Amino acid sequence: HRVLLTGANGFVASHILSQLLSASHSVRAIIRSPAKAAAVKALFPTYSKHLDFAVVPDMTATGAFDDALKSEPPFDVVMHTASPFLYKAVGDVNGFLDPAIKGTTEVLEGINRVAPSVKRVILTSSFAAIGAFGLKDETGKVYTESDWNPVTLDLVKEKGDMGLAYRASKTFAEKAAWEIARKEGRGWELVVLNPPMVYGPLQHKVESTDELNESTARIWNLFLKEKSPDGELPPNGLPLYVDVRDLAQAHLLAMDAPGAGGNRFIISAGAVSSQQISDVLRREVEGAEERVPRGVPGKEGLAEGQFIADSSRARSVLGVRFRGVEETFRDLGVQLLGIERGM
Ligand code: NDP
Repeated sequence: HRVLLTGANGFVASHILSQLLSASHSVRAIIRSPAKAAAVKALFPTYSKHLDFAVVPDMTATGAFDDALKSEPPFDVVMHTASPFLYKAVGDVNGFLDPAIKGTTEVLEGINRVAPSVKRVILTSSFAAIGAFGLKDETGKVYTESDWNPVTLDLVKEKGDMGLAYRASKTFAEKAAWEIARKEGRGWELVVLNPPMVYGPLQHKVESTDELNESTARIWNLFLKEKSPDGELPPNGLPLYVDVRDLAQAHLLAMDAPGAGGNRFIISAGAVSSQQISDVLRREVEGAEERVPRGVPGKEGLAEGQFIADSSRARSVLGVRFRGVEETFRDLGVQLLGIERGM
């Protein structure tokens, strides 16, 4: 395939890029600055023939992607992962909403304008566009792809809450994508992936634990940063997860899987509690025992009636296989302590 990948320097996209290049696909990576392109290039020194770059400094500008979408050979796949998620980098609720929504509509309208060869567009949405996150009673709920987060723009404006704004940004961006696909799609199919919390080792390079992406920073800050084995376990937050390597694999499978077009897919390995994360880190990661709040080792840790999500469509249509909790949190924990030591 010839693939255009937005947000190519991000946590998730770095794994997608690595897997695409390993499978001999040819990729144009979209990033926001030449310095970020240089950093990505340095990660893949042997792939210069299969990897080129385009800088798109502002994806909310009209026609932002039009030049980048022109290629010889032409693109047949576009993967759009770029979207604000790092809370500390976002000033207000519009800092989430505008780039998420306009970035998505710009990619799709750009394809319609200048890239008629594109056959599939794979959008990295989120479980944030599916779950109600307390806006409805979720007791015992089994979420499927027919569920939508009921959040509204009025509610975001009224509350001014950043978490709500992030979840709204993913919901509205995905809705906008389906609207364009339905009304204006020109020869391409939309495939949407809806992962919950994404964890696992980093493929991209970070110099320090201050540079971690949002979901990884959560594990670092809540479990590993302090020496606090007798401290309180952090609350479960969104207790559904997927390994970043499996999410990246889902993006690759979505390029070819028959019948995937026109569908959204919950990409979730299952539920995980803070207790389970603590148990794996303390058991598997050297140096973690003296840091991670121990809680009550072995206790399940999820509330009775906790909602879950059904990922059977991803398993059957895309053929995704999911790693277990041990592998995800062991590999992440070992790497995070290594980053702290400057390795
Ligand atoms: P990262 O923060 O590591 O990556 C985000 C990417 O989007 C970066 O390339 C970033 O570029 C780019 N980006 C952010 N804001 C803008 C903007 N305003 N304009 C242009 N580009 C922007 O996060 P992840 O890799 O975790 O996220 C990737 C995708 O996966 C996102 O769509 C996210 O919503 C989704 N997702 C992630 C989950 C997780 O737990 N990690 C869970 C569910 C969905 P730059 O480096 O220049 O800022």
